[in-house]
Amino acid sequence: LQALREYPAQIIVDLATLRDNMRHLVNVVNQEGGPTQVMGVVKADAYGHGLIPTALAALAGGATWLGVAQAREALALRAAGIGVDRARILTWVNNPLRAPYEELIEQDVDLSVATMTALHRIEQAARAVGKPARVHIKVDTGFGRNGFTLEQIDEAIDALLPLAQEGVFEIVGQWSHLAVADAPDVSEFVDETDTQIATFEEFTERLNARGITPQIRHLANTAATLSRPQIHYDLVRPGVALYGYEADPAMGTPSQYQLKPAMTLQAQLSSVKTVDAGEGLSYGRVYVTDKRTSAAIIPVGYADGIHRSASGFNELGAKHVNKLGGPVRVMTADGAKIMHVSGRVCMDQFIIDLHDDAERLNVHIGDTVELFGPGRGADYLEPNADDWAQAADTISYEIFTCLRNRIPHLYL
Ligand code: PLP
Repeated sequence: LQALREYPAQIIVDLATLRDNMRHLVNVVNQEGGPTQVMGVVKADAYGHGLIPTALAALAGGATWLGVAQAREALALRAAGIGVDRARILTWVNNPLRAPYEELIEQDVDLSVATMTALHRIEQAARAVGKPARVHIKVDTGFGRNGFTLEQIDEAIDALLPLAQEGVFEIVGQWSHLAVADAPDVSEFVDETDTQIATFEEFTERLNARGITPQIRHLANTAATLSRPQIHYDLVRPGVALYGYEADPAMGTPSQYQLKPAMTLQAQLSSVKTVDAGEGLSYGRVYVTDKRTSAAIIPVGYADGIHRSASGFNELGAKHVNKLGGPVRVMTADGAKIMHVSGRVCMDQFIIDLHDDAERLNVHIGDTVELFGPGRGADYLEPNADDWAQAADTISYEIFTCLRNRIPHLYL
């Protein structure tokens, strides 16, 4: 608690918002009246929001599945008391050579089988435990990453069939991942998703022809969940929408999709001081003040996961270019104002040029500022993670998953 009180920044996660985002996703997939279930993708510590609290909020919102990349995340969910009666858990296991498959099977975790190596290791584990492994056959429909290709699928079926007949494997699902579903409609990539869907269907035909009929087929990530009802199949796997974002801001703002960002990142100013015109701020003099002004220090930096690429340059600086740094919402005597990272983000702090006299603005050491939060209302100007993503030339996913655990998390 002491460390929490002392830390000059906080990640605030609104659990009711996570729950409501999930409720909305459940409504979206039930609009067509189909029995589609929703998996909350909570890998990578729930995209930085905290694995267990987020999983519980997603379940409260109507998710019936949880999805994680790593075996230990699946086991952590079970260890937290989320039993199989509460949630099915799928792990796509990124390290099949070392994954604790026996424990996963004992704990009723569904397993992705994407390679022959995984298949053989899962078989050994199921035999050792004496319990069928519940597997989802991962097929590569064009992502080029995980899954059997059309060329490899017959070899996989040859191995899977006797295992299913013997009761060593219960073949639960067929699944794949989309590569460009988040590209805006105008993009040249749109047909690529159609090609992936056709390939997914071809895999189903190939499996069915050999007597394998997975009950649960799933393909849709956030983008496809929100925009392609025809491929909701039996289960959808939204990740970023649970946290309140669209995959690509070009596809719309969170509020357009009735989603609300659940995370707020705030910090307390550690210093406010007057700076003369012509002074460089931070490393490398890439930002030089154009007038006598005030500068405030925000005590978080790249060691907290604030991207150095969100640094701000101006034309007076060494690089002679204007580049807006990451945004910060500051409360001033004139109301809320957006200031920007001025100069380079350092390891533990960065500076913002207040462009005015701090006394006049009524900005002081200890004031709380917001780096990002739920977003904008008519009179409530607030940056969100997409704005930081733009400043750092990345995606919102990376903004929140990179935040380090040294920043205390508070749950509302
Ligand atoms: N399914 C798989 C296999 C994933 O790896 C991910 C995340 O990258 C998702 C679903 C969720 O994707 P999104 O966050 O874009 O909804």
